[in-house]
Amino acid sequence: MTIFPLAGRFDPARLFSFKGGIHPETRKFLTSECAIEDMPVPTVLRVPLQQHIGVEAEPLVARDDMVLKGQLIGKARGPVSANIHAPTSGRVLAVGHFTAPHPSGLPVPTITIRPDGDDRWGDRLPRMRPESADPDEIAAQVAKAGIVGMGGATFPAAVKLNLRARYDLHTLIINGAECEPYLTCDDRLMRERAEEIADGIGIMARALGVKQVIVAIEANKPQATAAMERYHRVLGYALKIKQVPTQYPMGSEKHLVKTLTGKETPARALTAELGVVVHNAATAHAVHLAVRYGEPSISRVVTISGRGITRPANVRALIGTPVAELLAHCGGLAQEPERLLLGGPMMGQPIQNPRVPIIKGTNGILALAASETRDREVMPCIRCGLCVQVCPMGLTPFELNTRIKAGDLEGAARVGLLDCITCGCCSFTCPSNKPLVQTIHFAKGKLAEQESRKHQQEQAKRLAEARQERQEAIAAAKREAMAKRKAEMAAKKKREAEAAAAETPKNGETVK
Ligand code: SF4
Ligand code: SF4
Repeated sequence: MTIFPLAGRFDPARLFSFKGGIHPETRKFLTSECAIEDMPVPTVLRVPLQQHIGVEAEPLVARDDMVLKGQLIGKARGPVSANIHAPTSGRVLAVGHFTAPHPSGLPVPTITIRPDGDDRWGDRLPRMRPESADPDEIAAQVAKAGIVGMGGATFPAAVKLNLRARYDLHTLIINGAECEPYLTCDDRLMRERAEEIADGIGIMARALGVKQVIVAIEANKPQATAAMERYHRVLGYALKIKQVPTQYPMGSEKHLVKTLTGKETPARALTAELGVVVHNAATAHAVHLAVRYGEPSISRVVTISGRGITRPANVRALIGTPVAELLAHCGGLAQEPERLLLGGPMMGQPIQNPRVPIIKGTNGILALAASETRDREVMPCIRCGLCVQVCPMGLTPFELNTRIKAGDLEGAARVGLLDCITCGCCSFTCPSNKPLVQTIHFAKGKLAEQESRKHQQEQAKRLAEARQERQEAIAAAKREAMAKRKAEMAAKKKREAEAAAAETPKNGETVK
């Protein structure tokens, strides 16, 4: 359903502003001039079966199996899920649970592989010629390759490519904003792999059947903009390379769409309802590798930064590489970090255990020294309203905070808890240093837990009802069968009695 058909109804030369947002110090200089380096194969790989939004993949290997690089080891389950492939060749040490690269620190189903050092490829996917391929074939190849949104959203890319079946799509926006401070992995990828990214963009545009493509890059990445401008025509598409203002959270899908089209995406709706699909620049690169070379999604570029790191860098590492090995690759910790984060300083999550692996959506590892953090004394709210002014979703963060603290999660949901994109603008701005976004994270986690419990209870109730129905049906069938048998026996007895009566000599008759 298209509720705001926009095709050709916005001026791609114009830019619009969005309400709220902040301008934090970007500190990208720590790694912006660090060329992407390949990290050697680590000593162990822990590959979670849930690296994406949707249902976890089903394991296809068992302990002690030997696997080859690129081999399918986890199969997507259901319409929103993603395949998982072996990042290198080696032996499966375990198919079990391991700490998730997530603040919960809870164990998730994980395949642990001991690399054999040969890094030997198995069968790759068949190569494709996208110029003559059908859109469905391209989407199917992207699904087979297990590609998910590499900007951190981790939504299965093929599901987005298939949105053309449900929405009247006209524009593909490539998100090269990379608005989180410190992170430079997309910047470097665009500077070093512009031609490959442009090819991936053309392939996705063809799969989506859109009319126009806009590549949006924040104004603080002039080299990336220049690099992408060299490849402005691919697969018959003219790519419009647009510089967008350096403003956090410009990389949020909905805010990027607002900046480029002037249109608001309705709350909890997809940008596809406006006819627009947004993909990350690194996702376009992964699509190029999958379609042209048959390579599944088994590695990514990660920014390792912060004053706590000895040698900040941009590293291409295999999915499943433990954080500790990446830190060691960068010379280890220069000092005990105040905060160790997966992701950027605004939306990143604390690393509970450095043995956790990087996954397809991991764009950064930060070791922040005390001088880089804002951990100060929390004071009472002074109702200054600054958090409201900077909230890009138009929420009232202090009210959310009050309701959550009072345990009123339903009330918090009524005032927009679920619309919050956990961007952290409110916490960043609060003069009382209130941990607003952390409180919101906690509440969202609680709500998700409640939802999951409710779902489990409903499922258990459905199963119990189904079992009772089955038992009643079996009992009814038994009763019916017994009644039928009884009727048959009665009929038989009657027939026998009648036959016996017919054979009994009547008075005066003689048996011959
Ligand atoms: S910014 Fe902080 S002090 Fe000001 S209203 Fe919001 S929560 Fe209160
Ligand atoms: S974290 Fe949520 S409430 Fe806070 S500014 Fe961002 S969207 Fe608004």
